[in-house]
Formats: sequence, C-alpha cells, structure tokens
Amino acid sequence: MPASGIADLPYRGELMFDTANPDPNNQFDAIVVGAGPAGSTFAENLARASFRVALLEEHPQVGVPTHCSGLVSPRALEIAGVDRKEMGLREYSQARVWAPGGATLWLRSDTVQAIAIERDRFDQLLARRAVDAGARLMLGTKARTFRRENGQIAVQATTPRGEVQLRAPLLVGADGAGSRVARWMGVNGKHEVIPAIKADVAFTNGGTDSIEILVGSGVAPGWFGWVIPLPGGRATIGLGATGSARDHLPAFLDLVRRRFGDYTLEHTHSAPIPLGPARDFVGDGVLLVGAAARQTKPTTGGGVYLGIRAAQLAAATASCALAQARALSRGNLSRRALAPYEDEWHRLEGREVTVGHRLRRAYRRLSDRELDWIVATAAQPWAQRLISRLGDIDFPAQLLSALLRDLPRKVWSSPTFKRSNVPTFERDDVPTFERSNAEPVHEPRPELVEGPAP
Ligand SMILES: Cc1cc2nc3c(=O)[nH]c(=O)nc-3n(C[C@H](O)[C@H](O)[C@H](O)COP(=O)(O)OP(=O)(O)OC[C@H]3O[C@@H](n4cnc5c(N)ncnc54)[C@H](O)[C@@H]3O)c2cc1C
Repeated sequence: MPASGIADLPYRGELMFDTANPDPNNQFDAIVVGAGPAGSTFAENLARASFRVALLEEHPQVGVPTHCSGLVSPRALEIAGVDRKEMGLREYSQARVWAPGGATLWLRSDTVQAIAIERDRFDQLLARRAVDAGARLMLGTKARTFRRENGQIAVQATTPRGEVQLRAPLLVGADGAGSRVARWMGVNGKHEVIPAIKADVAFTNGGTDSIEILVGSGVAPGWFGWVIPLPGGRATIGLGATGSARDHLPAFLDLVRRRFGDYTLEHTHSAPIPLGPARDFVGDGVLLVGAAARQTKPTTGGGVYLGIRAAQLAAATASCALAQARALSRGNLSRRALAPYEDEWHRLEGREVTVGHRLRRAYRRLSDRELDWIVATAAQPWAQRLISRLGDIDFPAQLLSALLRDLPRKVWSSPTFKRSNVPTFERDDVPTFERSNAEPVHEPRPELVEGPAP
C-alpha cells in the first residue's frame, strides 16, 4: 500500500463539510463515525473495495485536538502503510523504569522498539488516504442518534450547515472512548477506564535521551507516568492513574523536574483510556473498531496498533458481507455476517488482551515495596536477557508474563533477596502465554517462555 506524501496533506481546517453528495437520499454502504486511525483505516479499506463510505468527524480538523502521546511500534506504521522515516519524529530502542524508591531498570533492545509520531499528522494522513480511495469525509459533523429503518441504519448528524440524515446497511463505531455507537448497541457495560493526562513540555536544561517510565503510588497509582523525549529538547510527558490523573499531575510534574531537569509546560490534555475489549463488538448491521471497542492494551493503554489491525479485519469482513448482501439483493446485514471480524480479532489479538488483563489485576495490587523489589530483581542479567528477547511494545503481556513466572525461581537461588520480601502472585495472576495456532499477520514473535512452576 503506497504511503501518501506528507507535504500535500490537507485537513488542517480547509476541508469542511461537503454538501455535494451525488445521492440526494444520503444513501451509503457504510457510515463510519469517527476519523481517528481506526475509522479512517476502515473507511479507506472499504472504499478501495468500491463501496460508498461516509466518514463523519465531529471536529473541523482531523487529528485535533490530540490526546495521544504518539508512541507506536515500527509494526504499527508498517501495517498502516506509513513510511516511518517520513512520519517518525524519533526512534527508541531503550526505556528506563523508575521504581518508587528510585531504583531503575533498563529495557534495552538491539532494534528500534518504538517511534514517536505526530498524532495529528498521522491521523490526517490516514483520513486523506480514505478520501483518495473514495470515502466522503464530513468534517464538523457529529453523529447524534441512530435508528433502525427498513433493515438499514439511519444516522442523524449535526453539521456546520444544519442537520443531516444518512442511511446505510452498515454503521461503524470508530468514535473512540465513550463511543455513542457502543452505547446505542448496549455493549458499554461495566469496564475499567483509566483517566490519563498528557502534557507537551520543552526542557530548558537537562532532559533525557530515553523513554522514562515512572511507577508508584506517589506518581501514578494503579498505572504509570511517562516521559517521551522528542527532538530539540521537547518531550511529551503524562500519566494515568486510578481515580483522577489531574490530581496527581502537580506531584508528577515536580518529580519530572527533579529527575530530568527544568522545563516549560505548554499544553495539557486529558482523556480516558478504556480498557477492554468489549465482549461483543458486532451486532446486526453495526460494528465497533478501535477505542470504541476498547481495543487497547490493558498493560500500557496503547491502542493505535490494535485499532488499525481491527479496522483492517473489520473492513475485510464488511466487504464480503456487503458483497453477499448485494448479490442476494438484501438490504440488511446480520450479526452473523459480521461475526468473522470479531472471531478473527480474538484469534489474533485476544490473547494479549486477556493475559494483559490478568497482569493488570496483579499490578493493581502491588505495593510500592513490591514494585521496588520487582524493579531491582528484573535488573539482574537473567531478566535482562529475557527483556531483550521478548520485549515488544505491541505484546507487552508476553514479556511481563514470562518475567513474573521466572521471578520466584530465580529469587530462591539468589542470596540477595529474602523470602519475606517476595510478593506473592496467585497462580491465576501469572498466566502462561501460549503461542496461538493462528497464522500471525505481523512479524513472528519470539518463542514464548514456558512458565516454570514457582
Ligand atoms: C493520554 C493518552 C495517551 C495515549 N498514548 C498512546 C500512545 O502513545 N500510543 C498508543 O498506541 N496509544 C495511545 N493512547 C491510546 C490511543 O490514543 C487510542 O487507543 C487511539 O487513539 C484509538 O484510535 P481510534 O481511531 O479508535 O479513536 P480516536 O483516535 O479516539 O478517534 C475517534 C474519533 O471519533 C471522533 N468522534 C467521536 N464521537 C463522534 C461523533 N459522535 N461523531 C463524529 N465523530 C466523533 C473523535 O473526534 C475522534 O476524532 C493514548 C491515550 C491517551 C488518553
């Protein structure tokens, strides 16, 4: 898939709502709500298969405001067909974890593990490609209500020029955290949401060269804080926390200043990270992709890679379902016709998310003392070898799972640690990460570690 040039990127405001719809009934094959990475990827893929796609974005500009820190894997850019040299601000092969007591753990790799991108430009590039493929992008257009009508779904939306009603056999909720489409589907049951806040800063002295991860109850209880250095002394910093991220911001800003040097604070932006995934993300004539389906990693909150993967799988299923419906002169799409998307997503990505959830439950229960202990233990050479072998930001659960399973065995043979210092993990908390029989669509992952009995 060719990457569009960045130089001619529009959508910094100039492409407004387009009324020139050739169909006076506003009839489409699919209405996609939300022009984030998941929505635009879905729209591009479906439009390439010659279906009529409406892509609705409530803001007048794609990608703005941005709440994301913009850290993605090389794999995420690769599957999106985006040139990392063109889009990447900076590449990283190491990160440092700071324990509450100040001990540090280096996570190092021989290869680039993460790339910082400008999320607004990234989203604009994907939206532009959707338009180039034939999707109709409607900016400043907010989907308000949804209704079933003769086997189709009618979407009532507000635009800068008033109300509009669109119809399609397929509605796609790509409307992020707090998705209206998910609420309408009734799948937004009880789930964990991490309040997060990010800030853009410019270091006036000091700074750092690696990604910094800060954990502990005084910094970011239940989640973590981060510093992502960018070129020219700039950085994106932020934190998530159970409770309120904003309440913990002053202490976090102080800690960053003490550890990495003085800086000026430019913007802050807070947004929730929904952890999931939703149990059912398809229904009759409707499906969810990306953060709307809570397709995020429960260990890190990252969702760009998972959202794009989901959108590609969903578009492949939707193309078949729409083609079949057309061939049979049927105007509606059943849940059954859309189910292969959900099955395929669970087969390919579900394990990481399930294991990630169990690790998250264990993480939430750790005290600062236990975090200190884990960081100190994981700094040992055996753990470092595991880290360099299994480290992968798209699949953090496989490394964490292997580390936790190996910890006790290594510790008993070490004179450094006392048994009383060792946190106890219930067997259920430390799942074995088994290789799926699925044919991986991404690069093959390294061999996974069999969990030794503690
Ligand atoms: C502070 C923070 C930092 C993060 N950092 C990272 C990171 O470094 N790396 C990473 O991989 N992930 C990160 N994430 C998660 C990541 O941002 C999301 O998983 C990702 O953006 C999901 O993409 P999406 O396309 O599903 O939804 P979004 O990117 O949220 O896009 C949804 C779009 O839908 C639009 N919309 C919503 N409702 C409507 C409506 N009714 N009508 C029309 N349009 C609507 C919105 O305006 C938005 O443009 C972070 C999240 C937070 C909160």
